[in-house]
Amino acid sequence: MIYVTELYEILSENAVVTETRGRIPLEPPNYMNQTALRETHPWEQPFLKPARGKESVLVYLVAIHVLAIIGLSLFPLPSLPVFGATLVLAALGGFGTSVCYHRALAHRTLKLNKVIEHALIFWAMFNGSGAPASWVAYHRHHHARADTSEDISSPAHGGFWWAHLRWLYQSPPADAQRWCAELDKGHYRVWTYAQVPVILLAIFSGLALGWQGFFWLGAIRLVYALHIQCFVNSLTHFGHPQDGDSSKNVWWLGPLQLTAWGENWHRNHHSRAGSARFGFYWWQMDIGWYFIYALEAVGLASNVKRPRAQ
Ligand SMILES: [Zn+2]
Ligand SMILES: [Zn+2]
Repeated sequence: MIYVTELYEILSENAVVTETRGRIPLEPPNYMNQTALRETHPWEQPFLKPARGKESVLVYLVAIHVLAIIGLSLFPLPSLPVFGATLVLAALGGFGTSVCYHRALAHRTLKLNKVIEHALIFWAMFNGSGAPASWVAYHRHHHARADTSEDISSPAHGGFWWAHLRWLYQSPPADAQRWCAELDKGHYRVWTYAQVPVILLAIFSGLALGWQGFFWLGAIRLVYALHIQCFVNSLTHFGHPQDGDSSKNVWWLGPLQLTAWGENWHRNHHSRAGSARFGFYWWQMDIGWYFIYALEAVGLASNVKRPRAQ
């Protein structure tokens, strides 16, 4: 048995923040053949067949879509207070996912004040992004295996819908112990247990503003947030690279991405995964970066990594 020590250079460019995740058995000559994706080809399953243990994910996805369609039929034009509250929650969720989950926890490109960090984790979960351990595990897996047969959300497997939505409920569950053991213990573990209560709160709390609030702050917001995040896995990996990197910047997604502005510069991100800033030029609007910049200015974010060359 040969052992290798996995170095997570995906977390940063040139190993600015290189982490060691213990010793992982390597079976020569072809370790990649051992893994589940290549063995099981889940994208060949029927569209609505969830992976074992992910039935609840499919139920959740169907439920919010059904509720959103009913809500849009009954209340196609919400009142200003309801629409405003929906936008605020969606934006908080976007900062939670993009700034906290993606840039801080998954890639370690900045360090957040603990109170801010956990508040953003709450808003990310309230926006349907799941617990930090599962999100980060999937995401590190994606970067480490990008554009290979083990890339969990590659459109090369099953086309647009696999990359966009199907992998969420048809791929094997996230292996948090392997990819982000530091988030699968201690106070981070509490968030894993809190997933169901938080998502129920996310769906139903809008009732405080009546039925219109129920549908708009709940299912309609969650469906919007879901697809806008899913575009990062689908549309921004529809490049046709000569260099083995399918990621691409999709400028027009920016204005639509209220919940994740900046994530649309995905080619930038794959090429400089160690940077907290995704928009490299002044015209590449990156709301997540502006938020980080502001947090840093008031001492609530530190060790902020900039792109080395622009
Ligand atoms: Zn990333
Ligand atoms: Zn990617």
